[in-house]
Amino acid sequence: MEGPSKINTKSSIETLIKLKSARVKYIDKTDQKSDVRKVFKVLEVDSKQVDFVWCEICGAVLAWHSQKTGTKSLKSHADSHSRKRGESASGSGLQPKITAFNKPANIPKKEVVRVNQVIARGLAGDLLPFRSVEGIGFQSICQEMLNLGAKFGPLQVSDVIQSRHTIKRTRLVEVSDEILANLKHNIAQAASFPRICFTFDLWADKY
Ligand SMILES: [Zn+2]
Repeated sequence: MEGPSKINTKSSIETLIKLKSARVKYIDKTDQKSDVRKVFKVLEVDSKQVDFVWCEICGAVLAWHSQKTGTKSLKSHADSHSRKRGESASGSGLQPKITAFNKPANIPKKEVVRVNQVIARGLAGDLLPFRSVEGIGFQSICQEMLNLGAKFGPLQVSDVIQSRHTIKRTRLVEVSDEILANLKHNIAQAASFPRICFTFDLWADKY
């Protein structure tokens, strides 16, 4: 019998989060003793608590177990954000202000305009369609880059983006394996029903 915990690896959870999967729930545990935990939400996949928490500030997934792991590694992660804001995460004044996914960011309008000019130039320069900006793929790439910057500070694109050969031959294989594992899991869950129906819904619509 395959339990859901088997495939709940860090990267499979990160993928589910990226895809905004409804299988993931973010559980608020602010009632707990440590202030540090205000930064993190305990994760549930398929309504079962997993050994990972989610950082509200940068969206990182971190290993954590309520019994086995203390809050030391979480505290140092939270502190790394606070240092940039010049405050201590373990201090009483802790209030996570920059929420990567669900609160409006505090960013000047002219910076937003500038970034969007860069996007316009970039897409036009590479002859890419402007509807790319609405695609989940483009948005997940951008979000990941923003999260990395928040986590590690100033970075060069060349520090992060690998060659197209590596992405195609290695990263793509890893990602497909993960999607396949998730699909197998879903099929295993559905197998208790007498019939399964698959619909492949791929189309391009111009509007
Ligand atoms: Zn973080």
